[in-house]
Amino acid sequence: MFDYLIVGAGFAGSVLAERLATQQNKKVLIVDTRNHIGGNAYDHYNEDGILVHKYGPHIFHTNSRDVFEYLSLFTEWRRYEHRVLASVDGQLVPIPINLDTINKLYGLKLTAFEVEEFLASLAETKDYIRTSEDVVVSKVGRELYEKFFRNYTRKQWGVDPSELDKSVTARVPTRTNRDDRYFTDTYQAMPLHGYTRMFEQMLAHPNIKIMLNTDYREIQDVIPYKEMIYTGPVDGFFDYCYGKLPYRSLEFKHETLNEEVHQPQAVINYPNEHLYTRVTEFKYLTGQEHLKTSIVYEYPQAEGDPYYPVPRPENAELYKQYKALADAEPGVHFVGRLATYKYYNMDQVVAQALALHAQLSNRSSWHPRE
Ligand code: FAD
Ligand code: UDP
Repeated sequence: MFDYLIVGAGFAGSVLAERLATQQNKKVLIVDTRNHIGGNAYDHYNEDGILVHKYGPHIFHTNSRDVFEYLSLFTEWRRYEHRVLASVDGQLVPIPINLDTINKLYGLKLTAFEVEEFLASLAETKDYIRTSEDVVVSKVGRELYEKFFRNYTRKQWGVDPSELDKSVTARVPTRTNRDDRYFTDTYQAMPLHGYTRMFEQMLAHPNIKIMLNTDYREIQDVIPYKEMIYTGPVDGFFDYCYGKLPYRSLEFKHETLNEEVHQPQAVINYPNEHLYTRVTEFKYLTGQEHLKTSIVYEYPQAEGDPYYPVPRPENAELYKQYKALADAEPGVHFVGRLATYKYYNMDQVVAQALALHAQLSNRSSWHPRE
């Protein structure tokens, strides 16, 4: 008899497996339909021996000391600050938009103070910031919005920024200084030996059994367990009874090139050209030295593996209906990006999983599955 059946071996499932096994001495079975652990953060050495992220670039960053210290139990880190260039008007310029972006784009030599005035003169006044369009035009005006955000967002999400919650483009700030880092979090680093190695360390405990290539539905009536932790798509759990929740998908096109370095920065965004949104060169992320280099193109699409919940009001309404079912489901706990339909970064998922663990371990009595 397992105490927990955990569905999904990504961050949400693996953190809970580790905590329940080591802190509560619970017996855990963790299953995943995929043939590997790590969920979307899975990385592996490709056939040329280059460490790549199968599901697109994953850069760890957090302001949470708790999350960083927790993950540090399972990995050493490589210092890494992420930087991105955008291909706009035939030039490669820093994104997030900063002082150098403006000066390069317009051939100017503005100071930080002057660029602040320049952007203020372009910005549109908005009484209320509601959408992903509002966020950007209220800071940098319509022209820069069109150059950097509108088409990238339409490609990535399949809808116009005016139809997406403000939270989506608000992930990318605007700066008037020369800071060209993508993130400004206190902790920014990559697992020294990769994510998969870190997950292996987390799950290496005699109380944890791992079953890959397995949908939980195949085993849930055969293998006895007391409670379930579910990290897959929440609509799928309830057989889409209220209709499908939109998740955005991507097709990843991986390539290895016979050159040591391919592009001048880890990621190049292509807002206006091409069907793909961005190209990542993994050696920047991993620090690996190799005579060849591996890159990945991301082509957004509607169908395929669910990667991104789509933050917009009608989807939030639909999710509310599923959440009501989830809250009422006895003996099942929903956690993670797909199961709680939240556009969460890795650190937010770890924090959410640690919070659920705290809740489970504080329960005074044990409520077995009804
Ligand atoms: P997942 O990793 O999706 O794990 C869920 C697992 O459940 C999957 O492995 C799935 O196979 C399994 N599963 C689903 N249904 C079933 C079933 N029926 N039976 C058995 N198993 C099932 N975050 C960052 O912090 N930094 C980044 O740079 C970053 N970049 C990203 C880039 C891309 C392209 C994407 C898509 C995401 C990125 N993220 C990034 C977000 C990050 O991937 C997630 O926050 C994190 O991986 C979510 O973990 P999770 O456990 O909730 O879900
Ligand atoms: N975005 C954009 N242009 C860019 C970078 C980002 O329009 O050059 C928008 C786009 O809608 C994207 C969102 O901002 O989906 C969040 O960007 P982020 O890089 O955080 O996306 P993720 O890494 O989660 O795919």
